[in-house]
Amino acid sequence: MNWLNNGMHGEMEYMARHGNRRSRPAELRPGTLRVISVRMDYLPTDTVDSDIVLDNPELGFVSRYATGRDYHKVMRSRLQKLASRIEKETGPFGYRAFVDSAPVLEKALARNSGLGWIGKHSNLINPKAGSWFFLGELYTDLPLPTDDEFSNNHCGSCKSCIDICPTAAIIAPYQVDARRCISYLTIELKGSIPEEFRAPIGNRIYGCDDCQLVCPWNRFAQTTAEADFATRHRLDSSSLIDLFNWTEEEFLKRTEGSAIRRIGYLSWLRNIAVALGNGPANENSMAALEARRDHDSELVREHVAWALEQLSQSN
Ligand code: SF4
Ligand code: SF4
Repeated sequence: MNWLNNGMHGEMEYMARHGNRRSRPAELRPGTLRVISVRMDYLPTDTVDSDIVLDNPELGFVSRYATGRDYHKVMRSRLQKLASRIEKETGPFGYRAFVDSAPVLEKALARNSGLGWIGKHSNLINPKAGSWFFLGELYTDLPLPTDDEFSNNHCGSCKSCIDICPTAAIIAPYQVDARRCISYLTIELKGSIPEEFRAPIGNRIYGCDDCQLVCPWNRFAQTTAEADFATRHRLDSSSLIDLFNWTEEEFLKRTEGSAIRRIGYLSWLRNIAVALGNGPANENSMAALEARRDHDSELVREHVAWALEQLSQSN
């Protein structure tokens, strides 16, 4: 609760709103006796190496969980299938599937189910699969035997994720200040990105994977065979200028079925403007920004003005 009390959830009010229901599953679905935690690898096989994109300031980096189709539907239908399989064995039972649901403490549940440990970057790590996976839960009223095999924490003396974080968001081991985290700043935050974070954001236009990229346990990560998670519209390595030039219609069409759509067109432009401001000051990026200098949205105008200022200073 200290994390919430200290306001580290930023604008994510839903985290505070659900109170006890987050830690007491039976209050979320009456009759719940057990929670089945599952994980699903998402790293596509066809993705351009993240370091290549991060090292090229003319490209936009999109967090690897978001370059394919939004996982929520895929995971929910898998959980439904799992429930049907169980039902064949047990007969009708009560259950409810959750995927990335605000009132569910999914990482703690996954850890308690033996799926891994929560690393210093606050993501779940599985000793045989790293951390590139989604989590889902099936709350059930079945008195299933519990899995008492906890995975030990294997972070040890490593602190690579803390050292690499571009915005120093991991303020202490296991403690991420969401207000400093690039994932929060580019996805959850609706308004203006505080200036102190704009330069460290670099070319990350949707989320950030740095703490996972550096984690030694991800050498055990598995790629996914799930077609829905395959990279779409070259979102793993697109030119910032191309993305910035998308019209709203193009944005809506190309992000259909993708998690990216949920941030909306204006936040998309806001994020790319910041990345362009951190990139090379060439004619093309200046022209792309100039074309949006008088955009209808104050949010976009402000970030475009900042970017142009950055580029003029580096000329
Ligand atoms: S996602 Fe990026 S900004 Fe957030 S804690 Fe990890 S490295 Fe830091
Ligand atoms: S980078 Fe090191 S400290 Fe951070 S989560 Fe991975 S093993 Fe733990």
